[in-house]
Amino acid sequence: MEYEPVIGLEVHCQLLTESKIFCGCSTRFGNPPNTNVCPVCLGMPGTLPVLNRRAVEFALRASLALGCDIQPLSIFARKNYFYPDLPKGYQISMYDRPLSVGGHLDVEAGGQTRRIGITRIHMEEDAGKLLHEGFPDSDRKSYVDFNRSGVPLIEIVSEPDLRSPEEAHAYYFSLRSALVYIGVTDGNMEEGSLRCDANVSLRPRGQTALGTKAELKNLNSFKFVQHALEHEIRRQTDLLSRGQKVAQETRLYDPAEDRTYAMRSKEEAHDYRYFPEPDLLPLRVETAWIDEVRDRLPELPAARRQRFVREWGLKEQSAHVLTASRPIADYFEAVATAAGDGQAAANWVETEILRKIKEGKIEVRQPADIPLAPERLGKIVVMIKDGTISGKIAKDVFEMVYATGKEPADIVRERGLGQVTDEGPIRAAIDRVIAENPGQLAKYRAGKTALLGFFVGQVLKATGGKANPELVNRLLKERLGKL
Ligand SMILES: [Zn+2]
Repeated sequence: MEYEPVIGLEVHCQLLTESKIFCGCSTRFGNPPNTNVCPVCLGMPGTLPVLNRRAVEFALRASLALGCDIQPLSIFARKNYFYPDLPKGYQISMYDRPLSVGGHLDVEAGGQTRRIGITRIHMEEDAGKLLHEGFPDSDRKSYVDFNRSGVPLIEIVSEPDLRSPEEAHAYYFSLRSALVYIGVTDGNMEEGSLRCDANVSLRPRGQTALGTKAELKNLNSFKFVQHALEHEIRRQTDLLSRGQKVAQETRLYDPAEDRTYAMRSKEEAHDYRYFPEPDLLPLRVETAWIDEVRDRLPELPAARRQRFVREWGLKEQSAHVLTASRPIADYFEAVATAAGDGQAAANWVETEILRKIKEGKIEVRQPADIPLAPERLGKIVVMIKDGTISGKIAKDVFEMVYATGKEPADIVRERGLGQVTDEGPIRAAIDRVIAENPGQLAKYRAGKTALLGFFVGQVLKATGGKANPELVNRLLKERLGKL
């Protein structure tokens, strides 16, 4: 029997606020353990949480970007469970009244675009972190760091619309890209800013009822999401084809062994004894605030890609590369505007600028992180177009402008790199080249006219690459024709 995988992802995303969700502690990653803490996020008795307005704004922005309906009233709830990294004994989350519902994300996988539903987005606080390694007595003890406790998160729950590990990978990738684009998270997966769990079940192809699902935890890179799902689908296919049942359980992915193993039987929502958080008022988001956030929402990657194709005449592939990161897309648009030529600008950014970024390991968070101002690159493109410099010389000018930060026009003037359009010196170079290559000349005259290219190359070389190639071509033909 053929089985169809049914996959849904739950993505936790850390919001890019300065302070935690219910207290004023810093959210900075990498500070010494237990230095970003206070009585509130340590869960001391008698403390009261105060909701961070900025965290709500970011959650609203994410909701709107993903097409969700903001609920007029949402309610924080206590999710009760015991774990050493959770000092209060409960996590403040949202349960039956989430912030927003009913969105979607368009995902490209396997050459087609599919719309993946988003069930809900809710806000919650992060827990602390247990440290099992790195101490002299780590063989006997675990330590706990509460710096992360109370860091604001949103959880984005997808519909079970994904049908393959590739699609799940593409969804997670696009989701991260959109969230980073709108500036609500840094999307840093190594630091845990984005974390993913997956629900996966199988059903006979053609059947609509869902099979029993397993939840996979610890899918903290794009690669892990795909590998863990591939493994889990194989495991469930094996079980079902042998007539056995899939247990509803939580499984942990082990990247070292590329397998999943059972962690615990899957808990039900009622196990958490959710109840409304008595220390926080219900969250009422006014329409005016929603409108304000919507007005300031930047253009999203998919829309921008289409616009680059339409307005700047880019190929689909170029538009894809250039919109993958917002600062690169901004940079490209600034170059294209300065150059008045989208395709030429795209060529330069895709080849030279992306190469420089890679070579210099430059972390580009904003266009200004790229050492060459986009207006300068735009001027280089213009100088090629108006014949001031040749395309070949332009590469040298680019390197010099990049290294020195000088104006392209100054570099060209100082170093005498302007294109030679004066016929005198070119004719002199032609005479010299012809005199130096009697053998080639004889062959040319005997009918091997393809050697014209050879002569053009020699003349360009003799003029240091500065001669206008079209002019060289014309003058050479003239000269050779007279011989
Ligand atoms: Zn605190």
